[in-house]
This record gives sequence, C-alpha cells and structure tokens, in this order.
Amino acid sequence: MIISNSSCRPSRPGLAGRADLILIDGAAHAARLRAALADRVAHLQSHGGKSPGLAVILVGDDPASTVYVNAKARAIEHVGMYALHHHLPATTSEDALLTLLGQLGQDDTIHGILVQLPLPAHIDTVQIINAIPPAKDVDGFHVINSGRLMAGLPGLVPCTPLGCRLLLRDLHGDMTGLHALVLGRSNIVGKPMAALLLQENCTVTQAHSRTRDLPDLCRQADILVAAVGRPCFVRGAWIKRGATIIDVGINRIQPPPAAGPTLTGDVDFETVSKIAGAITPVPGGVGPMTIACLLSNTLSAYCSIHRLPVPDPLDLLTAPASAT
Ligand code: NDP
Repeated sequence: MIISNSSCRPSRPGLAGRADLILIDGAAHAARLRAALADRVAHLQSHGGKSPGLAVILVGDDPASTVYVNAKARAIEHVGMYALHHHLPATTSEDALLTLLGQLGQDDTIHGILVQLPLPAHIDTVQIINAIPPAKDVDGFHVINSGRLMAGLPGLVPCTPLGCRLLLRDLHGDMTGLHALVLGRSNIVGKPMAALLLQENCTVTQAHSRTRDLPDLCRQADILVAAVGRPCFVRGAWIKRGATIIDVGINRIQPPPAAGPTLTGDVDFETVSKIAGAITPVPGGVGPMTIACLLSNTLSAYCSIHRLPVPDPLDLLTAPASAT
C-alpha cells in the first residue's frame, strides 16, 4: 500500500526509548542464514555437486516487481547458487508462460522456479502457480505444498511466514501454549503463518477484515503477526504488555521523505514499541528474512530433488558463524 500520512512514521530504534525492548534484527538474522547457506553450497560444489539453480520469471515492467526480482537474483548469486532470469513482455500469453514453465520443470540445472507476482490481468495466476512442479515451487504457493503444510507434512513453505517462524523460534525457543494472533488471512502470508504457529503448539487466532472486537483479541496475544497491508494499523493500546510483534507489512510513504526509510509497516512502531517486549522494525525486520528463506527453499528443493538430507533452516540459522 502507498500512504501519504506523515504521522505514520517508519520504525526507528530510538523511538521507544526503552532499554528492555528487544528490536528483532531481521537483517542480521538473514545475513547469518545467507552465510550458512553459502557454506552449504560451497560444500556441495567441493564434493562434485552442481550449484542449486533458481529460475526467476518476471512478466512486464512493474517497478516494484523489478526491484524485488533483481534483489532475489543478486542474493542467489551471492551465496554461490545459479540464477536464471527470464524477463518477458507484459503481452506474454498464458500459453507461452505455461510452455516456459514446462521447459524449466524438465531442466535439471534448475531446482527452483519463482514467478514474480502480480501477473498481468490476462494471465490466470492460480493456473500458473499450479503449473510449477511442486518439487521446484520455492515460493511454496502450489496447492500441493499448501496442502502439505496444512497436513503437517514436509514441503516447501512460503518464504515470508517461514522467515517469521525462524525469527520467533530464535527469540522464544519453545512457543508451546502461547497465544498467537495472525492478522490477515492471505494464502501468501496469513494462512501459512497460522499453520506454522500451530505446528509450534501455539493457540492460534486468525483475524481478518470481518473480525469483531479486533483490539480486544489483539490484547490477548503473546505473539502478534501483522500482515494486513495497512500502514500503522496496529496501535499500542491493542498490545499486551511484553508481547512479541512481527510486522510483515510493507507500505510505501509518498512522497518519499527527504531522509531515512521510505517504507513503513502495518504496526504503529511509535506506540506499540512502548508496550511490546520485542518487535521487528520496518525496514530491516521480516523483509530480509523473506529473501534469505527463498535461498533456503532453493537449497531444500535441490536436496529433495537429489535425494540428499534437507537442512532445517533453523539449524542453519543457529549454526556457528563461518568466515564466509
Ligand atoms: P493481502 O491484501 O492479500 O491480505 C491482507 C489481509 O488483511 C486480508 O486477509 C484482509 O482480510 C486483512 N485485512 C484488511 N483490512 C483489514 C482490517 N481493517 N481489519 C482486519 N483485517 C484486515 O496482503 P498480503 O497478505 O499479501 O500482505 C500483507 C502485508 O504484508 C502487505 O503490507 C504486504 O506488502 C506485506 N508483505 C510483506 C512481505 C515481506 O517480505 N515483508 C511479503 C509479502 C507481503 P480479508 O481476507 O477479510 O480481506
């Protein structure tokens, strides 16, 4: 979402003025995960393995999508994986895209396929997502992978909720019995996030635009994940003292401020950080973990395809830092 509300300001660590607030540093966690992934890729290569390969498909010239795709391709190359970039015109037909997906599905140098969303309106997004072979579906959006997540079976998990889970596990360890509220029910963030928190033995509430008494529900949550797409939507008065707040939102401030971040989250950092126990900033919280988890999913897909043990990203995140 784009906002022009100057009272909704980006997160600034100093704003809360509380020494006991934990600012969850997603950028640092993501750097640790990327370093561990780079080690694994180097190890594979030194033992005669191929580089894990990710095909990134962009249809059209949407500026935000172009930025995201370039960032993903750069991140892939930085950890020693192979990135194949397909930039197709906005007029590309659905059939042409399906043909390309068929070819990439057969290509054994490619272990992950990512189609950047949104697609142009004449293309059926659901059909395209479900044409990606589930084994190469590194976004985890294919109905088979969604079903496996709901059933508690191993599979490729959407990158943003996976990144949130890693941040929460690193902070809390065991989350058994905690009340987690997920604000949002999209297939990309809200629903898979709730499924992952359920796997962590949280008691999960899923809230959405039709939820009644939302502030009261939020005040009961030990963990609140906001994925609503509305700038500064969650206020300090809604927060249980000491709760952990994961802000997934990415909202662009227009016009961009003269200095400092141009993004803000779905959480009103200024008021929430006075009550919460821990919080992710925007930018620098969930966003970097999303890209790191895409790399992790690409390695997982590679390992599954080659019948190697699939590394647990949490183990990678907590592995001793290397010199990479
Ligand atoms: P969607 O628009 O698909 O979903 C938004 C959800 O919020 C819906 O479930 C909607 O409910 C709910 N919602 C909207 N308004 C209200 C309201 N007034 N009260 C309660 N619930 C409401 O968004 P996404 O899930 O794709 O993304 C959410 C946010 O996360 C966005 O800001 C997006 O930019 C960001 N994002 C960030 C990523 C990252 O890497 N950090 C990655 C992906 C997304 P309903 O279903 O009833 O309509």
